[in-house]
Amino acid sequence: MQVGSWVAHKSVGVLLGVWIAALGCFGSDEAAPGAVGSAANPDPVEARRGAAAAVDDARLRAAGSDGANWLSYGRTQDEQRFSPLVQVDAANVDQLKLAWRFETGLRRGHEATPLVVDGTMYLTGSWSVVFALNAATGELLWKWDPQVSQEVGRVVCCDVVNRGVAVYEGRVYVGVLDGRLAALDAGSGEPVWQVQTTDPELDYSITGAPRVVDGRIIIGNGGAEFGVRGYVSAYDPADGDLLWRTYTVPGDPSKPQASEALERALPTWTGDEWWKVGGGGTVWDAMAYDPELDLLYVGSGNGSPWAKEIRSPGGGDNLYLSSILALDPENGEIRWHYQTTPGDNWDFTATQHLILADLEIDGEERKVILQAPKNGFFYVLDRETGEFLSAEAFVTVTWADGVDPETGRPIQNASGDYPEGFALVMPTYFGAHNWQPMSFNPQTGLVYIPAQEIGGPYQLDGAYSYRRGQFNTGVDNTFITLFNRELVSGHLLAWDPVKQREAWRHPLGLPWNGGTLTTAGNLVFEGTADGRFLALRASDGKLLWQSHSAGSGIIAAPMTYAVDGVQYVAVVAGWGGAFAMVGGDAAAAAQVESVGAVVAYALVGDAITADAVKALMASRDPAVVRGADLYHTWCARCHGANGIAGGVNPDLRKSARALGVAFDVVVQKGLPGTSMPDFQGRMSAEDSGEIRRYLLALPPR
Ligand code: CA
Repeated sequence: MQVGSWVAHKSVGVLLGVWIAALGCFGSDEAAPGAVGSAANPDPVEARRGAAAAVDDARLRAAGSDGANWLSYGRTQDEQRFSPLVQVDAANVDQLKLAWRFETGLRRGHEATPLVVDGTMYLTGSWSVVFALNAATGELLWKWDPQVSQEVGRVVCCDVVNRGVAVYEGRVYVGVLDGRLAALDAGSGEPVWQVQTTDPELDYSITGAPRVVDGRIIIGNGGAEFGVRGYVSAYDPADGDLLWRTYTVPGDPSKPQASEALERALPTWTGDEWWKVGGGGTVWDAMAYDPELDLLYVGSGNGSPWAKEIRSPGGGDNLYLSSILALDPENGEIRWHYQTTPGDNWDFTATQHLILADLEIDGEERKVILQAPKNGFFYVLDRETGEFLSAEAFVTVTWADGVDPETGRPIQNASGDYPEGFALVMPTYFGAHNWQPMSFNPQTGLVYIPAQEIGGPYQLDGAYSYRRGQFNTGVDNTFITLFNRELVSGHLLAWDPVKQREAWRHPLGLPWNGGTLTTAGNLVFEGTADGRFLALRASDGKLLWQSHSAGSGIIAAPMTYAVDGVQYVAVVAGWGGAFAMVGGDAAAAAQVESVGAVVAYALVGDAITADAVKALMASRDPAVVRGADLYHTWCARCHGANGIAGGVNPDLRKSARALGVAFDVVVQKGLPGTSMPDFQGRMSAEDSGEIRRYLLALPPR
């Protein structure tokens, strides 16, 4: 798929642009992207496996220019969630129509960003169930249910969610809620290997998407609310062998620590109890990779328990809780750290989305890492060294008066403390911004943050003692005053990371909205808690389009891809996650059902107008015009004029997309046992190829 051909032909007009782009893609004898078969090998399972086998380290590094595919969780290894596709843009997005909708058959929160590899979409639903779909039609290709015990749902903090898969060298990798890491055959969905990455006797869980870093599968885990010790692991994709494991907090202080970094962290912890319940610091979501610096970045979570008075009664920063960590992907060694919330007392975490970008700051090009963690400050760090560059509050922040520009430490004030009394703190454990991914558009220079204003009560639990299988926060009555709909809100926030200030905002009413996607078409997409799906102009925030087709609240992030020259924008719907479960009045205000679904939109839907047919003929592409003529000579009598089947026989627009060059084989040889005749002797192979090109040039069914 050539993004360049789209750009070049965009001025010709939308529909024509689609057709010409499609033709440009199939000008050679190569199998069409999205085709599930080839003349030599029409087996769709083999074709899927082959397409996924071509996703290697080089291709992942080059993903930025591969607009048709979405090869990893954040689209590119810098996790910008910026797409170069421009077929859908600010001028035509109001024409976007539902192309297809697929229901997962699952309830509860759906948080996945789907991946697309050459026309196949891979995603997860709740309970870590994996789906492979035809990305052009939404047709289910395979499904893998890891059969997670329902009892595991008792020891996850924030719903039985999963954020998606990784694809690498022919396999699909998924972290399973119960702590497994599974490698599935991308063709069939059959498991190749599974390993337990956690101690099943402890309350670990996995909700995050694996990442592929230079031939290794990287996976973290969650569970800090229940009392665990955080770590991140690297596995061998070939057989699931553990390559390295890096703990984020020290272990038993009477023993040597596993690394020098943990020896350095040890004096920042006080008391003699914290290590017995793990200490926390779980790596449950954010990761990014810079192949030039060869650094893997991960975010670590809150302490076990939340309350610092209990966890570390003599004070201390408690490294490396709530920190951005730069690791050597070869061995997992911690190269540098930056702690966003020293001695985290509020479940503020630094597990939120990490984005790598190159920004001009004070006249100098800087390689930076960006984060908007739960604590309410937007951070810009030098990603080579971890040097603090700047931080400003992006929502209402009451617990600190800013971040000291010299030390990079928050200027904490007394209002956030709760040693004896009660504190109402903004933001709170739900975060100024949580796991819902943000996005960065290098053309506007803005970061698009699903931001929210939620305050929360904190009061020390005087009777605290660790209880296995329970919430171990050390905070009492956490949820009592939750959460009147009048007191909370959410908005899409466009943030300038250089000026460290708001560019624009779009109010969304309720909090707990979806992640964001931004594109070179000057667009930002976001789904909402109350089930809308929005497109806004990236430069100024003007609302351009919205859909109500999702059928549920949307918390996941949208993504975009192309098949056969058509750009799709897709999002997973499925109301759930922490706030949806515990948010009481404010969550009920969304008035949505929890129904898992994928919705995909495109500029071309069912309608083929007379104008569109004229435009097609006006393209004067000889192959398409001849294909149209041949189609109406040989095929239209049974399969419908203008490529549109009336419902009696198969719609050949769909068949041409599904079969690729195998379509020509069917035309030549017929389908024995059906009324489809063979056209051998009546049509040449070139003829059937031109019919296929005509069908592919039509707007899809
Ligand atoms: Ca937490």
